[in-house]
Amino acid sequence: MANLKLSHIYKVYENGHKAVNDFSIDIADQEFIVFVGPSGCGKSTTLRMIAGLETITAGDMFIGDTLVNDMEPKDRDIAMVFQSYALYPHMTVYENMAFGLRNRKMPEAEIKERVMKAAKMLDIEDYLDRKPKAMSGGQRQRVALGRALVRDPKVFLLDEPLSNLDAKLRATMRTEITALHKSLKTTFIYVTHDQVEAMTMGTRIVVMKLGYVQQIDTPMNLYNAPYNKFVAGFIGTPQMNFFNVNLKREGDNVRIIFSNGDTVTVPYEKVSKIHSRYLDGSVPAIFGIRPEHISLEKDGDGLKFVVTNVERLGNETIVYGKLGDHLGEFTMKDEGNNIIVKVVDRDDVEVGDVVYAVPNPNKVHFFDAETEVTLMDKIPPFNTVEAEIAGDRMKLLNTAVALPQVFKDAVKDAKKVELNIPPQAIVPGSDYHLKVARIENVDEQHLAYLTCGDSYLFALVGDEVKEGDNYGFSFQNEKLNVLVNGEEILKAVDDEVSLTGGFSKTEVKENGDRVLHFFYNIGNYTVEAAQEHGYKINSIDGDNCYKKTYRYALDRSHVRLVEPQEPGLNAVVKEQLDYGNIRFAKVEADGQEFLIRVDPDFKQDTVRVAFDSQDISVYSTTIDMKIC
Ligand code: ADP
Repeated sequence: MANLKLSHIYKVYENGHKAVNDFSIDIADQEFIVFVGPSGCGKSTTLRMIAGLETITAGDMFIGDTLVNDMEPKDRDIAMVFQSYALYPHMTVYENMAFGLRNRKMPEAEIKERVMKAAKMLDIEDYLDRKPKAMSGGQRQRVALGRALVRDPKVFLLDEPLSNLDAKLRATMRTEITALHKSLKTTFIYVTHDQVEAMTMGTRIVVMKLGYVQQIDTPMNLYNAPYNKFVAGFIGTPQMNFFNVNLKREGDNVRIIFSNGDTVTVPYEKVSKIHSRYLDGSVPAIFGIRPEHISLEKDGDGLKFVVTNVERLGNETIVYGKLGDHLGEFTMKDEGNNIIVKVVDRDDVEVGDVVYAVPNPNKVHFFDAETEVTLMDKIPPFNTVEAEIAGDRMKLLNTAVALPQVFKDAVKDAKKVELNIPPQAIVPGSDYHLKVARIENVDEQHLAYLTCGDSYLFALVGDEVKEGDNYGFSFQNEKLNVLVNGEEILKAVDDEVSLTGGFSKTEVKENGDRVLHFFYNIGNYTVEAAQEHGYKINSIDGDNCYKKTYRYALDRSHVRLVEPQEPGLNAVVKEQLDYGNIRFAKVEADGQEFLIRVDPDFKQDTVRVAFDSQDISVYSTTIDMKIC
């Protein structure tokens, strides 16, 4: 039994193909994790890295507290079950199951006990003397499971174990594997391209596409709150319907305008997390609605379409249709504007009927037309608020406050600006006051809906803040983006300082042994790297690493000012940035500019900065990859 941690795992094959990018997950003991995604998305590669059958290019993998990157597969206490069963044809079922244990020199009596126990669990006791070729696919897969089971591993890895079986057997085996997981109480990691297997078996699912994790979540969260259009379309059958639309706020409603001009409305309250910029009718969006979340009306206030096909599956009926063109004509041309509706207990719909689709407003999804990322994040990424500038003050949310110097310099003579304010940048304070309309618990955080005119300002608040309160708050000004006429004129200050530099080593004799020391070299500053990081960089890039440039990233709070005689990087102060409640110095060293936090009375022209090697993250600059 074990928990498993994958931290920034990458796989770059020898031909340069990046099969897995920045894969991170914490898997708790006894979880049933499913990796799902289309063929070639990197599922098997990830599983094989966990098994130790494939090297990890970069990143760390832990089983329990042990780093296992370089541990031999046989020492990992992991058992793997393959799609192809991989049974020895000349051995009986018993021998196949006993083989691995005999190799480990386990006493025969114990082997027998384990094989019999596994055979009983898998209901193959009667076949122990048979050879695999005399067994069905389902039975063979049971033997393959049995062979993993007898090893009593900490983690079970299963790579598409059911894909060679017919549909009925697959369904039975799904249930059996789920039951096996429950009774064994060990960690399972299961790879499949079949979303039904993923949804029915996983306690959590990792959806992958083209080597990148798209979302890691419970089956119901993937279904209810897909992060992007890909996940939305991949999970659920029939697939979610997608339409290109524009959205227009009209009082208490939002009108969804389809490309043929048809419209449907949903109450604003149901979609209030969509950023206001999408609600003026001009910014394209994608509307998503699952077939089971549409009701069919014979007439009335829905999306008109003509029925092109009807599949009756008993109590469920799948209705296929096409929206009309911009003239309201239904052309049967096979392009775009298809709609699928799943209804229950209806047999009054026929091909050729013109009917109306009414989306359930509680189940609507919207995505950005370009990035295809959801517009309905559980925590909206930012709020946008208009501010008026007058001299040294700015007025917003019915309150005038001092205009931070940095804002003043950036806005020049503009009289109106927009502030993009992340909910995390709204902190308790006394600059503004708004009424708390609602508090929603999101992933153990408290999201406050602050009433702001006819919409909401979203803020993360402490649990002392209650609905109905008048909440007093301020902004962390450095975390805001400032826009004039939609154009960004001031970017939020990033939490990270990013510098490029070289990497070097020296060899010294310590107590008669030759020991390597590794260093990060940024300008004239040399920081000794942790040994394990040094070896890691060396193992990825070989001797090339001493000629390469790396990106060194560190949290700004870890950059400290030191005295001139201490080791450090000399930097020239170019300017100071006064954000009102916080101040930074923009400094330049080795031709690179970065910000450091300084006190209000800071006056120096030059500084010396230092950082500790354990705070530094190292990135490859040739392929975008976090190394350590
Ligand atoms: P999946 O299991 O999701 O179908 P894989 O992990 O098998 O995907 O493969 C991910 C990608 O890596 C694919 O594009 C595949 O062609 C590529 N790939 C797999 N093995 C190798 C290899 N040994 N050398 C180069 N590319 C590989």
